Amino acid sequence: MTVQERVFIAGAGPVGLTAAAGLVRAGVPVTVFEAGPDLSRESRASTFHPPTLDMLDDLGAAKPLIAQGLLAPQFQYRSRAYGLMGQFDFGAIADATPHPYRLQCEQSKLTRILCDRLRGDPNFAIEFGGSVAGAEQDGAGIRVTIDHEGRRETRSGAWLIGADGARSEVRRALGIDFEGFTWPERFLVVSTPFDFRGVIPDLVSVNYVADPQRWHFLLQIPGLWRVMFPIREDESDELALTPAFARSLMASVVPGIADYEIAHVTLYKVHQRVAKTFRLGRAFLIGDAAHINNPLGGMGMNGGIHDAVNLTLRLAEVWHGEAPPEELNRFDRQRRLVTLEYIETQSIQNKRNLEAEGPQFMQTLREIAADPARTRDYLLRVSMIASLRRAESLG
Ligand SMILES: Cc1cc2nc3c(=O)[nH]c(=O)nc-3n(C[C@H](O)[C@H](O)[C@H](O)COP(=O)(O)OP(=O)(O)OC[C@H]3O[C@@H](n4cnc5c(N)ncnc54)[C@H](O)[C@@H]3O)c2cc1C
Repeated sequence: MTVQERVFIAGAGPVGLTAAAGLVRAGVPVTVFEAGPDLSRESRASTFHPPTLDMLDDLGAAKPLIAQGLLAPQFQYRSRAYGLMGQFDFGAIADATPHPYRLQCEQSKLTRILCDRLRGDPNFAIEFGGSVAGAEQDGAGIRVTIDHEGRRETRSGAWLIGADGARSEVRRALGIDFEGFTWPERFLVVSTPFDFRGVIPDLVSVNYVADPQRWHFLLQIPGLWRVMFPIREDESDELALTPAFARSLMASVVPGIADYEIAHVTLYKVHQRVAKTFRLGRAFLIGDAAHINNPLGGMGMNGGIHDAVNLTLRLAEVWHGEAPPEELNRFDRQRRLVTLEYIETQSIQNKRNLEAEGPQFMQTLREIAADPARTRDYLLRVSMIASLRRAESLG
């Protein structure tokens, strides 16, 4: 079989399309296989961190994304018992990024922006309704089985990037373990057009509310607020998805307000898992295919975009003969380590902080806020800039 001189990418989510954009910009031909009939409209990630916006700016995607989102320069920690516990402003790290804010915008906006920019480029092809169902490799190339609604074909390319999400077929075909655990509780996201600022005037667009029983977050996106709650093990999926249950949770957010218009309710299983390796020969894993975590702190998609940029800069150099293939091991070394050290650790810590509530968390927040050096370190960490600096330091 002829080996096509192309990079194959499984999955046209935010991470797969960022990888496509990075490679096409560097003159590397790419074919993206997307299992769905079109780009997904599912509402999941809604927060873009500062360095992710810096990267998307290099790909020409930040400005149109910002035009469709909300800038969130501040975020707050609150508690049911203590009220406002702390507020932080990314302005304190404005010397470290041209985008000193979180952008609140749905991930489905990014995929459309990237795909529209790529269409028409002779180095870009996308095939919808094409599910990657297997992969085998040798020294010359990688053979990929594509399932088009039951009709199978085999295509051979130079490299394969698995950006096919948490249930990655690429990861399965490569036999790579996905080590970690699943939380016993699930998370329920309730979206409402209710104007929370009308009743909590000092609220900002990103707010985490601690409570040992029922912590939640309140995140604003254009036209809606998303409120996320944990669902206990003894509360069934069926119960959690009833309108009455969502209403009862919402009634606990602002005392005295119970009558919310509810736009969507979605229930998610939550995991903390990291693939044993992010590279196997001619194949790579990035984004949710490589690592998943709970959404507190908004790091899953952001970390996946950081994987895509790290990998594609190196792969383009290897493609053009400017670096040896061993250069690609640095992608695995750097991204896998910071996934474990930062994304997994921080997202677990964020969950524990909200569950603990207590005066100790408030005391810690106050100490950080009172010390400019600690505030800066803290903001560099939660904005994910520290994770990128750490990756760079690994060489
Ligand atoms: C409630 C919630 C809130 C979140 N909020 C945030 C946030 O604010 N910030 C953040 O950074 N992250 C957040 N996340 C996580 C974020 O949604 C994911 O990390 C992100 O979607 C990962 O992008 P991806 O491109 O790797 O995978 P996906 O978005 O899952 O995309 C994978 C694509 O691959 C396709 N596909 C699947 N299998 C195949 C196959 N075999 N062949 C071809 N195509 C295939 C799918 O159809 C899909 O289009 C949140 C998650 C949840 C559940």
